[in-house]
Amino acid sequence: MKKAIFLDRDGVINDNKKPVNKPKDLIFYPWTIEALKILSKADFMLFIVTNQGGIEMGYFTENDLKAIHDEMMRIFRLENIVIDDIAYCPHFKTKCECRKPSPGMLLSLAKNHHIDLNASYMIGDREMDITAGFEAGCTTIKIGKPCNHAHHTVDNLLEAANLIMDL
Ligand SMILES: [Mg+2]
Ligand SMILES: [Zn+2]
Repeated sequence: MKKAIFLDRDGVINDNKKPVNKPKDLIFYPWTIEALKILSKADFMLFIVTNQGGIEMGYFTENDLKAIHDEMMRIFRLENIVIDDIAYCPHFKTKCECRKPSPGMLLSLAKNHHIDLNASYMIGDREMDITAGFEAGCTTIKIGKPCNHAHHTVDNLLEAANLIMDL
């Protein structure tokens, strides 16, 4: 069994002050690359788990999302950052098991990649990320304002990466 770090995307990897509907909308934080390099060198698989209800709402298509993620992965590859898989929930109104705070995306990635969830981490900037991580049995790291059921709270992804290295 392998260990994993599940990363929320918007507000963790990229700035989400403006919606990300096209590859050109993707703006990484100044610390994102350094943080992901630290995590890439550690003994964890890296997964992105992202709610993209804008698909069902009609703001962008699955093809747009694929273009965004292709561009993101292209930049990461140049930096020797390895993201092992990306899961997204395209739903908004439709009831599903993938939209966070449900843990569905984490559970299916764990099944497909043989992940020990109790030895894994979920990093997110919203309470729903923490709930999904908690429900999946992961140690949870909240970015930004504290929420009462997160195991740890930090200011940004670089702090989260350094914290995991220290634990
Ligand atoms: Mg977020
Ligand atoms: Zn869903």
